[in-house]
Amino acid sequence: MTRPVIGVPVIGVLALQGDVREHLAAVRDQGAEALTVRRQEELAGVDGLVLPGGESTTIALLAERFGLMDPLRAAVRGGLPVYGSCAGMILLADRLLDAPPGQETIGGLDVTVRRNAFGRQADSFESQMSFDDGVGGGPLHAVFIRAPWVEEAGEGVTVLGRIVGGAADGRIVAVRQGNLVATSFHPELTGDRRVHALFVDIVRRSLAEKAGTAAGNERGLS
Ligand code: GLN
Repeated sequence: MTRPVIGVPVIGVLALQGDVREHLAAVRDQGAEALTVRRQEELAGVDGLVLPGGESTTIALLAERFGLMDPLRAAVRGGLPVYGSCAGMILLADRLLDAPPGQETIGGLDVTVRRNAFGRQADSFESQMSFDDGVGGGPLHAVFIRAPWVEEAGEGVTVLGRIVGGAADGRIVAVRQGNLVATSFHPELTGDRRVHALFVDIVRRSLAEKAGTAAGNERGLS
């Protein structure tokens, strides 16, 4: 049996607000093609999507205004790999704490996320955290900016990272559920590319799976 040919994955970065450029660069570093997504047609053309950090209420309002909120929800339900960093984690969460009434999310990730969880004194800080992407590599040095944390994670959610030391010791700051990945911190701002590597790998696997299914269908195998 010939293996289906898998092309370079195309990964979109939602470009309504936030640190888009840094994610484009980090994704390209991993050998994927990266482009900005602002419209539904652009969303339809990507194999994976990054939701950058920024301000989650602003991003949600703009997504609504650009007619992207429902297509984003449908994409997540349909299994599109999505990585949310900081505000992006908030946007992926099924449940929010300390959010203004009525703040909408895309959802899909079975977690309760607390916004601005580290308190006022810690608007921005760097911390050491444990990180387990399944291939090892040890602790990760992370940058947090008015960051959320995962207060509670559902059963199907794997915890990838926790804060080590200090007042927030043990708090969950990186998770994965199927094709969804979320971090409280900003790996695009440091040289450590393990989170983007993990995400691009998820996108590659999902592409390979789809190609396999399509090849199977062509041969009447499924
Ligand atoms: N505090 C922001 C929010 O609630 C997130 C901050 C960030 O993305 N750096 O949306």
